[in-house]
Amino acid sequence: MSTNLAALPLGPLDPERGELLRRVVDGLDTPALQWLSGFAAGVAHARAAGAATVEPVVPAAVAGAPRTEATGRLAVVYGSQTGNGRRIAERLGQAAEAAGIAVRVYAARDYPLRELANERLLTVVVSTHGDGDPPDDARGFIEHLLGKRAPQLPQLRYSVLALGDSSYPKFCETGRQVDERLAALGAQRLLSRVDCDVDYERLATPWLEQVVGTARDALGAAQPANVTRLRSVPAAPRFSRERPFTAPVLANERITGRGATREVRHVEISLAGSGLEYRPGDALGIWHENPPVVVDAVLAALRASGEESVVVDGEARSLREWLAREREITRLTRPFLAQHAAVSGSEDLTRILASGHEHELRELLKERQLVDVLQQHPAAWEPDALVKALRPLAPRLYSIASSQSTVGEEAHLTVAVVDYERNGERRLGAASAHVGGLTDDSSTVRVFVEPNDRFRLPVDASRDVIMIGPGTGVAPYRGFLQEREAQGATGRNWLVFGNRHFGSEFLYQVEWQDAVRKGLLTRVDLAFSRDRTPRAYVQDRLREAGAELYAWLQGGAHLYVCGDAERMAPDVHAALVEIVAQHGGLDPEAAEAYLRRLGDERRYLRDVY
Ligand code: NAP
Repeated sequence: MSTNLAALPLGPLDPERGELLRRVVDGLDTPALQWLSGFAAGVAHARAAGAATVEPVVPAAVAGAPRTEATGRLAVVYGSQTGNGRRIAERLGQAAEAAGIAVRVYAARDYPLRELANERLLTVVVSTHGDGDPPDDARGFIEHLLGKRAPQLPQLRYSVLALGDSSYPKFCETGRQVDERLAALGAQRLLSRVDCDVDYERLATPWLEQVVGTARDALGAAQPANVTRLRSVPAAPRFSRERPFTAPVLANERITGRGATREVRHVEISLAGSGLEYRPGDALGIWHENPPVVVDAVLAALRASGEESVVVDGEARSLREWLAREREITRLTRPFLAQHAAVSGSEDLTRILASGHEHELRELLKERQLVDVLQQHPAAWEPDALVKALRPLAPRLYSIASSQSTVGEEAHLTVAVVDYERNGERRLGAASAHVGGLTDDSSTVRVFVEPNDRFRLPVDASRDVIMIGPGTGVAPYRGFLQEREAQGATGRNWLVFGNRHFGSEFLYQVEWQDAVRKGLLTRVDLAFSRDRTPRAYVQDRLREAGAELYAWLQGGAHLYVCGDAERMAPDVHAALVEIVAQHGGLDPEAAEAYLRRLGDERRYLRDVY
């Protein structure tokens, strides 16, 4: 579980060694931390026994640990945006290790590409985002693999687990590309690729067991005799995605004013007694229920009462209960649409699903809910067939808008409530409406912490930070700033925020103004898009401040972008390329390379979706 390193006691260490230790452990995952702890104990033990030197024990499943021989092990490489891929890869590492297999688990960004040519047994766990994109952290690995420099791999046997979201047309695209490319490079598939939807557990768990079984067979005699059992499988945390904590809601206030284009709420959630900890940049997972008004609309479109008993996988519930608590009804998926096209006999839907209509399909998946499709293409669904065809409800992740160094056992969220009309009827977003509606004193919500090591403040608190976050993308920066204040960080802080109207949608205005007054925020740039014509966006402010921005970057600043992935993040990236090119005297390719380098140094970090 993540923790606030700055607040931890450093025992007998002097401040300098303490800072060194903080740097070493910052960002390490749980297996690496456990290995480190065992390593230190080994050093102490050897010293006590009078040994002159200590041979480090090479852990099998520790990312970033010294190189092991690629030939006698299973390498697990994961690319993960929201943490699911990392979780599965780590579980695979633990299961393989427990089965006596030498295994190394790497985040794709840490994988030494030169080892690929020697690798004998490889498993890739990789997710797909947006329009078929790989996770940010896995881009280098994927580009290398798909590019001209990838080596031929006749010695390699492999398996791929692809993660994705079937509400996007290019479902599991990155996993598919990796799988096909490895085969094209001459590698031999040990298992067929498995494509997992957001309810990934169902397929990932049996796949994981199969990988361990095939890896054991494949390595067989090649397995080194001295496989070190490195650690016991860590105890499961008390509360997790699978076992969420039922958290009281302490406060829930609307923070957009009259005339705002949408309702945004500041929600404070108590983690007291849960032992849950988080770091700035992490997300809070929310298990929500579908809003009753949306469930009612679906039942009306089905001409069902909701009382129908439905048994799926041995679980009996009323149709209403299935729709309210167990199934996605505000997001459509391609597999569901295909089944609905068959049940309804809709030629229109069949046409949209055929190749050549990707744009229409994308719009349908993005803009419509189950009720829209049921109304537009009526179908005589049997209740149990419908429940089986719908995707199980998955939790939603919200960037945490607080730091525990300031708020203790609480987590704050910034939630934009999705609420609009279509065909004269109300449509609500599932999780945002659920959380937004938790306004009673006795309200609770089921939560878990989703660590996000891809979006971290600099360990060196003297570094400057530039935080770009339009709309609710500003949420994590409230936590960043609280943390920087608690750390006594000497680096400067620059916020670039945008929203539609100054008067009603300047989220956390008073807090930012206080921070400026205190000297905590060095600079704030604002873009209120609909207060003027033509619209101004955060990237316009960045261009205006280009010389200074470049100077901050040259001085070692860390740059963060949070918010909309589809339009904002690419536009901001394009503006950054222009700025670096103009003020650094570089051509566009060199400016791209400059930003790529910042990414490699973990100084250009994005949390966009
Ligand atoms: P939004 O829809 O992103 O709008 C915020 C501002 O950005 C508006 O002024 C909008 O202007 C402007 N904008 C529109 N197109 C833009 C572009 N191409 N480049 C730059 N700015 C542009 O705001 P939101 O509804 O608050 O949504 C924020 C996004 O952040 C969502 O996609 C959400 O999923 C994501 N997100 C949220 C969190 C969280 O914890 N809440 C965390 C991470 C990401 P106009 O509309 O006037 O054109």
